[in-house]
Amino acid sequence: MTARILDGKKLAAEIKADVKERTALLKQRGVTPGLAVVLVGEDPASKVYVGQKEKGCLEAGFASFLHRLPESTSQGELLALIERLNSDRTVHGILVQLPLPRQIDPDTVLAAIRPEKDVDGFHPVNMGRLVAGLPASEPCTPKGIMRLLKSTGLTLSGKEAVVIGRSNIVGKPVALMLLAESATVTICHSRTEDLAAHVRRADILVAAVGKPRFVTGDMVKEGAIVVDVGINRLEEGLVGDVDYEPAAERASWITPVPGGVGPMTIAMLLENTLEQAERSLPARR
Ligand code: NDP
Repeated sequence: MTARILDGKKLAAEIKADVKERTALLKQRGVTPGLAVVLVGEDPASKVYVGQKEKGCLEAGFASFLHRLPESTSQGELLALIERLNSDRTVHGILVQLPLPRQIDPDTVLAAIRPEKDVDGFHPVNMGRLVAGLPASEPCTPKGIMRLLKSTGLTLSGKEAVVIGRSNIVGKPVALMLLAESATVTICHSRTEDLAAHVRRADILVAAVGKPRFVTGDMVKEGAIVVDVGINRLEEGLVGDVDYEPAAERASWITPVPGGVGPMTIAMLLENTLEQAERSLPARR
């Protein structure tokens, strides 16, 4: 079997076009979706991500508020900025780019964002709502992964899903979302014994490890859907957590790196911000 490409770039472009259209309608009603992105320090990867997010906002017709703070920013200063953004009615979404410098506790900062403006879905209230199966602002990368999976048209219900990675931003939430779709979910991590045996059972495999080509071709079940979340920067360029060529020979669908999950993350961020702006409208009579 040779896998079909699960094309995140194409799907993200479709979602962005839809966001742009809905933004234009919203603007006619006097509301411009506004996203505030806060970047503290000089982390090079963070700068790239923030640049991509700003570009996405401008293309969609949003107002983009970029706050660049120095590496030496104190937690108190950052919390004061978040407080201002929380009460700013032109700001519908607030995103604090991680990682933060060492003097700042990310959990304290994320919890300070008003849950309704938490377009990254990292606030404990939104995480709790996700666990409880209640409507929530969902984290962008896992939400994007679910959209990609659904775009295959295959049913997820009852399927064996294996997630490698248990981070709060990818592994854990995507496992919950797969469970909500009635997949049978296994979460693997660095302490998992005989990881390959778990992975070989997967009809749906999500790799979010952060190790280049960690999943080898022989671990992939024939016909599996493989979603590679990993972004590993090597001299040869960006590579994922899955050894693409041999995995693609066995999978039915596979995401490329780049051009798979990455573009979906930004599309979901824009969609979350737009939805928050739409909710700010008074109900039509
Ligand atoms: P983390 O480093 O937070 O988590 C990595 C997870 O992998 C941990 O749960 C860890 O287990 C597990 N792990 C590490 N080594 C092994 C091993 N040898 N065997 C099994 N499990 C292992 O990473 P993130 O979740 O933040 O990100 C994962 C990858 O996804 C990274 O490459 C990142 O760049 C990428 N990413 C891509 C995004 C996108 O938009 N495409 C967005 C976010 C992330 P343990 O918990 O036991 O330590």
